[in-house]
Amino acid sequence: MIFLEYQINIIYFKSVMKVLVTEDFLIEESALNELKKALEKAGNTEIFAIGHTDNNNEITEINVVSWGNEFMAPAIINNLKQGDVVIHNHPSGNLTPSPPDINLASYLGNQGIGFYIINNDVSEVRFVTKSWKGEERNPIDTDKIKSILGPDGPIAKNLQGYEYRESQVEMAIEVADAFNNSKISIIEAGTGTGKTMAYLIPSIMWAINNKEKILISTNTINLQEQLLKKDIPLLKEVLDIQFNAVLVKGRNNYLCLRKAKAEESDLTIGVDENLDELMTLIQWSKITDDGSLSDLNFIPREEIWDRLKCESDTCLRVKCSFYKNCFLLKARRKASQADLLIVNHHLLFADLSLRANLNNFADLAILPPYSHIIIDEAHHIEDVSTKYFGLKTSKKGLIRILNRLWFQLRKKEAKGVLLLVSKKLNKIKDETVIPVQKTIDSLITQKNELVNLTAELFDEIAKFTDNIIKNEQNELKLRITDKIEESIDWENTVRLKSKEFINSAGIFITNLSRFHKKLDSINNKNSKIFDSNLIEIAAISKRVEEYVNSIENFMFENNTNEVKWIELKKYKKGNSVSLNTAPLKIDTILKEYLFNQFDTIIMTSATLTVNNNFDYFKDRTGISTVEKREIIARLFPSPFDFKSQVIIGIPLDIPPPTQDLFPFHIEPIITEILKISKGKAFILFTSYMLLNLLYSQIITKPELSGITMLKQGDENRHNLLKKFKKDINSVLFGTDSFWEGVDVSGEALEAVIIVRLPFRVPTEPIYEARREEIEKSGRDSFIEYTVPQAVIKFKQGFGRLIRNNTDRGSIIILDKRIQEKYYGNIFLNSLPECRTIIGTKDAVLDELRKFYYK
Ligand code: SF4
Repeated sequence: MIFLEYQINIIYFKSVMKVLVTEDFLIEESALNELKKALEKAGNTEIFAIGHTDNNNEITEINVVSWGNEFMAPAIINNLKQGDVVIHNHPSGNLTPSPPDINLASYLGNQGIGFYIINNDVSEVRFVTKSWKGEERNPIDTDKIKSILGPDGPIAKNLQGYEYRESQVEMAIEVADAFNNSKISIIEAGTGTGKTMAYLIPSIMWAINNKEKILISTNTINLQEQLLKKDIPLLKEVLDIQFNAVLVKGRNNYLCLRKAKAEESDLTIGVDENLDELMTLIQWSKITDDGSLSDLNFIPREEIWDRLKCESDTCLRVKCSFYKNCFLLKARRKASQADLLIVNHHLLFADLSLRANLNNFADLAILPPYSHIIIDEAHHIEDVSTKYFGLKTSKKGLIRILNRLWFQLRKKEAKGVLLLVSKKLNKIKDETVIPVQKTIDSLITQKNELVNLTAELFDEIAKFTDNIIKNEQNELKLRITDKIEESIDWENTVRLKSKEFINSAGIFITNLSRFHKKLDSINNKNSKIFDSNLIEIAAISKRVEEYVNSIENFMFENNTNEVKWIELKKYKKGNSVSLNTAPLKIDTILKEYLFNQFDTIIMTSATLTVNNNFDYFKDRTGISTVEKREIIARLFPSPFDFKSQVIIGIPLDIPPPTQDLFPFHIEPIITEILKISKGKAFILFTSYMLLNLLYSQIITKPELSGITMLKQGDENRHNLLKKFKKDINSVLFGTDSFWEGVDVSGEALEAVIIVRLPFRVPTEPIYEARREEIEKSGRDSFIEYTVPQAVIKFKQGFGRLIRNNTDRGSIIILDKRIQEKYYGNIFLNSLPECRTIIGTKDAVLDELRKFYYK
């Protein structure tokens, strides 16, 4: 109990005073009512509450965290940050601090946290220590930013081809202002603004001036690579500031030395069919500096890496004998000393979700503590956070976990932790191990039965899905609506089978945990030879339990803020089935865990606005409901001269994409465009079906014989792009991932053909549920949700064409709804002003010829 041993600081004794609450106890009425309510409920019990304060030290929010005396204090500390106040009642009305009160107050006081004792009707307060919000922060000097980015600044002097951009300087000043005044800033920076430099420079200045970490989160590896390989090295070279930036990767990217050692020892016990790959990885673990996947020159098979990767539930932390050399911990130590932490959105949300669970936003979680966040590619945060705060429970995942205990494929050698334990037990000459050996046999039988039950349950789910959807497609998604949950079929088939599964799984988990206990006592008498096996068994047991809980929740809980659906993929070798849940809305989650927790939050992207306003982004992320924070939204248009660099063509004498004959009408136009542009084109689709159909037709055209046709799916994205850039006359047929995050400047890309407006599939469960939610409140979900989503993606597609001020090219939109439907203008108004040809295909092609051949 660290508080009781803590040195009492005499200064705090001196500050003990007794006043009437009305004079010096700044608390908002709602927070005061909350406190009074808690005290009334507590009666004669002591409570501890946390008061969160605003910039004027007024308590704006109360959270009761502990009911009891000072010995409950450790429950409090995780929830605190500088400036907060701990409020503790003495029901007797005697507000003299007890010795434990003083110790606790002293500990908290040193961290800027106040400690107040109150009576039960909150009419008197004793300030044992007062809170403070830390030293004055050193604001960023915006003149310095201007000179760094100025035409005669260090970047201009050191970077060949550097162009001074006013919008970049303005954006950097906006970012600096957000740091200086603890704001939330939403910034759309058009292509070419130079947004990464515009946020990196103030971030570095703030981090160094104030010794505070800045977290920079991106959605794609491409952007991380740009930051780490281009922008940050340049700034290190040219700025007169020493700083440290570190890429932080997720835990599962690192090899666990303890596991590698255990696998190496266990290899001597039996034959392992994966011996070669395992040995390669074990040898590599002895020479690699960083121990992460990106340091390997091959991609290990998933099932092998699973056996070696770091996982939170199999990590011994300080008790681990590899603690000092652990790759993960070395990386985390490096991160703790960095000024800038570069992460991806998934890691950011993993960290936020852990902080939310621990109610700890001030201390180490997955990442070291930070209070300033830059979220680049912020148009993804609704999707990424939805995914992160959702859950996927698959048949494959559960069976894979169970097979980590014991698995035997036909006549091949068995493997798994129970086999290893059994072999080790055989070597112990002690009769007491015999019953434990027998338990292993029984556990193997039970595990096999549970695998069968799992397969039966998911088969039942697949059958149910097939019966309801009744179509021939290989990928089906069935949303679980109230109607389905109330149906007799659901009750008599899927739910019935689930109950059977949950009962058996419960018995299995209990037996596994009893076995763990017995093995633990054998371990203690046998030089701890089962240490690593025990950790593995405990982790497996915990994960099976989590799977069972999520299946139970899926089947029997009805949370109105959740969307549930079944995903069924049919393959020749069998079905892949999963149960999925996702939050219906993420606005309150983001508000609570992100917007209300951090000092500075900058969200930026080239595509946040729709029709030149931020309403959609603010609404979807919940920023529009954030109170008591200054929120700034700024749009910095691209500096490029789109009117002369781009021509947009919209042919109208073709059917809309909703008609069956659409592919046959657009094929000759695409062929003609490619002839005019001599390839050099991206053709962006929204479905693989249409992509494959048109690719198979266009590749056979003799008039395009000299042009290389590349198709997404034939090779990985990286190789396709490399080939596309190298062969400057090639054409790339792409779907989803080529609409954004692809940077091809120069003559390799001079035309972008948008085959249809990128509306999402309307039957996607999560989108369907969100649309229904909007409709329920009497609003138009198509205009408020469907169209803006498509506009953001459309803007991303448009953004592929012009990457610098010498690029030029055409955007051809083959979906005439953009001109003929009432919502079409929202798409066009969201683009920068360009020369636009709307008319017959011949008119569009004629103008294209003039544009390319002039
Ligand atoms: S500290 Fe954890 S992750 Fe690192 S080697 Fe030990 S068990 Fe593995």
